[in-house]
Parts: sequence; structure tokens; C-alpha cells
Amino acid sequence: MSECVFCMIARGEIPAKVVYSDEHVIAFDDIAPQAPVHTLIIPKVHYDRMGPDVPSEVTCALFAAVPKVAEAKGVAESGYRVIVNNGPDAMQTVEHLHVHVIGGRRMSHGMVNFG
Ligand code: 5GP
Ligand code: ZN
Repeated sequence: MSECVFCMIARGEIPAKVVYSDEHVIAFDDIAPQAPVHTLIIPKVHYDRMGPDVPSEVTCALFAAVPKVAEAKGVAESGYRVIVNNGPDAMQTVEHLHVHVIGGRRMSHGMVNFG
């Protein structure tokens, strides 16, 4: 069994505040939210990150879940940012593909911060 923390959440072995779930994906609130709304959408099957190994139906399911999560979290009208940190230069910290849905307050224009 995978030790991956997001696989464990997908299997229900670690508690998470689940917002949405379907055949391919599960969405849950981030444990350390960076905005009033900060929800993660992950594929139920493990993929390290975006790449050619990810089936298109999984990619479709991830992005199809975004507006559903936004609706559930009450930010569909106010707007939100959708982010995928993909690989080391993007500072991906959990190596299980995930989509951040972030909103609930006005953000700045800057999308890229170099550390
Ligand atoms: P990354 O930096 O890889 O794009 O984002 C990983 C995200 O996963 C971070 O925002 C972090 O707070 C969140 N995270 C890490 N471990 C857990 C966990 O056990 N539960 C939840 N709900 N979120 C987690
Ligand atoms: Zn995983």
C-alpha cells in the first residue's frame, strides 16, 4: 500500500474535509489554507504530477471538478485561482498530482514569485 499522504486521504485512511468526489477524483480542504477557500482536487489513482502517463479522462475529471468545488465553496461568482505546482521548480511538495482551488478574497496580479 502506498505511503503517499494523498493516496491515504483518497482511501479514507487519513481524515480530510471532503468537498466533492466522483469516479476519478476527490476534493478536500487544504490542511494549511492560504486563503479563506483553499481546496485540493486529486486523482484517486496516484500520478506523481502532470505528464504523459496521466490519462486524458483523469485530466478532464480534475478540471471538470473545479467549477463543482467552486460552487460548493461559494466562490463560483466571486472568482478563484486554479494552480498546479508541477515539479521542483514550481515547489511541488506533495508528489501526488493535485489542483489547488483558491479564493474567498481579492488577490494581487502577480502570479509568479521567485524565492
Ligand atoms: P504543493 O505545494 O505540493 O502544490 O501543495 C501541497 C498542499 O498539500 C499544501 O498546500 C499542503 O498544505 C497540503 N497538504 C499536505 N499534507 C496534507 C494533508 O495531510 N492533508 C491536507 N488536507 N492537505 C495537506
Ligand atoms: Zn498518491
